[in-house]
Amino acid sequence: MQNSDKDNIKLICDISELSNLFTDSNSLENFLSKTVEMVASHMKADVCSIYLYSDGTQELILKATMGLNQGLIGNVKMNVDEGLTGLALKELRPICERNASRNPNFKYFPDLGEEIYESFLAVPILRGTNKVGVMVIQNSEKNYFKEGDVTVLQAITSQLANTIEMARFLLSLDEDRQQKKVIKEEGDLKFVKGRVGSPGFVFAEAVVLLESNSLWLNQAVVQEHTVDDFYKALKDSEHQLEDMQTQIEETLADIASFIFNAQILMLKDSIFVNAMVDKIKKGIKPHAAIIEVAGNYLKKFDNIADEYLKDRSQDVKDICRRILSNLIGFDVNATNCEGRILIAKELSAGDVLKYSSEKVKGIILLSGGVTSHVCILASSLQLPVIIADEPRLMSIRNNTRVLMDAEIGNLYINPTDDIIESFREKQKLLKTSAEISSELKEKTFTADGSQVHLLANINLLGDLKIAKHYKAEGVGLYRTEFPFIVRKDFPSEEEQLVVYKKLFEGMPGKEMTIRTLDIGGDKVLSYFQEHSREKNPFMGMRSVRFSLRHKDIFAQQIRAILRASVGADVKIMFPMISSVDEFVEAKQLVLNCVSELRSSGAEFQVNPTIGMMIEMPSVMEILEELANYSDFFSIGTNDFVQYMLAVDRTNERVADMYLSHHPSILRAIKKVVDVSAKYGKEVSVCGEMAHEEKYIRYLLGIGVRRFSLSPSYIPKIQRAIMNVQIKDAEAFAKEILSMDKLTDISKKIGIS
Ligand code: PEP
Ligand code: MG
Repeated sequence: MQNSDKDNIKLICDISELSNLFTDSNSLENFLSKTVEMVASHMKADVCSIYLYSDGTQELILKATMGLNQGLIGNVKMNVDEGLTGLALKELRPICERNASRNPNFKYFPDLGEEIYESFLAVPILRGTNKVGVMVIQNSEKNYFKEGDVTVLQAITSQLANTIEMARFLLSLDEDRQQKKVIKEEGDLKFVKGRVGSPGFVFAEAVVLLESNSLWLNQAVVQEHTVDDFYKALKDSEHQLEDMQTQIEETLADIASFIFNAQILMLKDSIFVNAMVDKIKKGIKPHAAIIEVAGNYLKKFDNIADEYLKDRSQDVKDICRRILSNLIGFDVNATNCEGRILIAKELSAGDVLKYSSEKVKGIILLSGGVTSHVCILASSLQLPVIIADEPRLMSIRNNTRVLMDAEIGNLYINPTDDIIESFREKQKLLKTSAEISSELKEKTFTADGSQVHLLANINLLGDLKIAKHYKAEGVGLYRTEFPFIVRKDFPSEEEQLVVYKKLFEGMPGKEMTIRTLDIGGDKVLSYFQEHSREKNPFMGMRSVRFSLRHKDIFAQQIRAILRASVGADVKIMFPMISSVDEFVEAKQLVLNCVSELRSSGAEFQVNPTIGMMIEMPSVMEILEELANYSDFFSIGTNDFVQYMLAVDRTNERVADMYLSHHPSILRAIKKVVDVSAKYGKEVSVCGEMAHEEKYIRYLLGIGVRRFSLSPSYIPKIQRAIMNVQIKDAEAFAKEILSMDKLTDISKKIGIS
């Protein structure tokens, strides 16, 4: 073939022109088919075809052809180990064959009509090292393509790669829509029964958090913007993020730092911004430049298993959506959740904080457990959460009105006026917190005068206000991990000192139980690489295991606690202790810190009380020995139930097996209480069981007198305790302890 016959520069310019005409996913097929037509005609080839590579199925799929059977578009598929086309992508190099049908790699597809074309040239379509697809030209004449043709085709495919990548974004958006359509056909959703993750009522419009990388831009493409508009959108985005950061700092001082930092940093990152600016300067429309750059970044993250980087991919999506929104003047996606109910498949604790700071009103999750830390945190943020394993919720259209009754776990989609009215009535009947607190007593006694201590579980410093309001007698559990979760690196001793000082200042003179770091499980630190590699994180490097493995971090925390608690009634508590050895090792570290601080001359707490949580089945046989070492016990029923019954507390699919009233659990709690009494050690219950009214009688009956609970439940639990006679409770507990069947216990306790 006479390569010199062709004006190759013109072809490249034509393809470039064609790319610019490409506007949305609907024109993708059109675009590809025009491209193959143009290339075939220009290269004087009998055939030109484009195969696109699917990351999901790892197959090449015929998407456009000029010269082969067009009826097979979409149906001819091969993996990269098949055929000469596959080989081009597998080896990331052009494959030029003079006599293709003789090549052992030639793959015959019936009806495609390829066999008559002997000259074959395949060039991979690549964006960097990312596989996009393969362009193939063929001719019936043998030995037809020459070296120069390879170069031309390579220039064309590199032009095509960007446009096809953008098309993929749009197609994934279309897939979302397709999926929505299919789901919609399953019938209109009116009511869903879920479980309460965090209580409250909300009636608001819904917004669905889609998982795909797609960015909504249909309206955007019809608008014209300049590079100045783009810069303005960047500035607006930066101001919005800084405002949100300031607001959250005012309300959530302990955990505020850095929530939006990653996004703010990206806006200031010249590589990220210049990638967009360069494209705009080359004539790409600003909205398309944003999407292309977002796509490039996300693609890179997709191929990495690392959790930290995966987290950053969410930041990329969020920041690009924000810039796009600011550019085109309306919300481009689901992230504007202010005043709305967010529906998501799953969220991390960090996500909950972020959406809370963006003023979401309620959250509906498709997965997760009610004792998961996402829910625990949400209740601290007074953010109602319902967990409902109903995939059709993801198909709800944005702005659909949803009523969440997160007191009992009911969801109403587009509720009728009657339902709305009945909820307004129900809300009126609920006493205001002012009314309730006026009934609250400073101290809690049973009906026959036994004193019971109600302490607060504190997750965020903001909980202290509620704890004081509801007259908590102190803090029975301060979960120190949340300030660790939201940061981008381990907080220093000094940073922790500031947070802990605020804690002690928040309830001066009251007892303060501060639990050492309990990360891992569902509280993954994005900056700690080892967590991302764990297959079974609840059984992994969690909690005190982490602290003992990383003694430098552990010691920093202990020193910060000791320095912050000068003169305070402080109790240091280790989570997830499984053996005497672990407890002794952890306690020794505290004692070492005491000696270290003493020689440094710093002011610190010299004599902290040191205790442990009961969360692991392994401690049940060594309780008496542990009582010799530990100053107190606190029963963390959330984990205790999880580990005793081997039921993941965050897995919605086994939620019906997560049974706190299992006889083994109830008897084990009694055993802990008995051993504590025998050794004169304080014992409390600090898991979610402590705020469930139905268990109060039983727990009082076996001798529990200290409950640590989310402070908003204090009024309800105080009232329940005030109605109990200890004698009745003891008889009740005795009867339950004699039962061996869950069904009998359920009936007796009143579990439906
Ligand atoms: C528990 O496990 O019951 C507990 C109180 O700790 P956390 O919920 O933080 O794991
Ligand atoms: Mg626990």
